[in-house]
Amino acid sequence: MEEAAAGQQRVVVNGPCAACGEECEYIYQTETIPYFSDILIISASCPACGYRYANTQMLHEGEPLRFTFRVESIDDLSVRVIRSMSGTLRIPELGVEIEPGTACEGFVTNVEGVLERILSVVEGVLCWADGDERTRAECLKAEIADARAGEFPITLIIEDPTGNSAIVSDRAIRESFAPSPEE
Ligand SMILES: [Zn+2]
Repeated sequence: MEEAAAGQQRVVVNGPCAACGEECEYIYQTETIPYFSDILIISASCPACGYRYANTQMLHEGEPLRFTFRVESIDDLSVRVIRSMSGTLRIPELGVEIEPGTACEGFVTNVEGVLERILSVVEGVLCWADGDERTRAECLKAEIADARAGEFPITLIIEDPTGNSAIVSDRAIRESFAPSPEE
């Protein structure tokens, strides 16, 4: 891993799959983000059982960090978002919270990519929901469309007790925070 940090772009390490124990490839990839810490992206996909793993790590000392970014225009949709497996992502205006969980993967995307991920969950809900739940999902879908058109300002907040998540914009507010005791 030290080698990867020293500028090597991509390192493949064989290791046992976390789900079935068969050997699979873990790919360590570094990515340089201007004016920011380099990040390490670790991913694996097991050919035997289909288990997938993805996580991100900042190549600096980890401390609990919160990033807050106000998305106000279409330009803001291209701002990079790095979310590690331990990051909680919230958009209060949409009532959306993505918490770390067993099935959760880290990702490197942009604001638009985050909205697309939420939209795909909402569309899944619309396949079966009825009544109030359906009304809520339809409302959320419309708000996401407005946010993607730059017509519905939202706030993106990521809290990560390991400091491995980030919103890469000079307008993003970066601050330390005290993780709640149950974390
Ligand atoms: Zn496997």
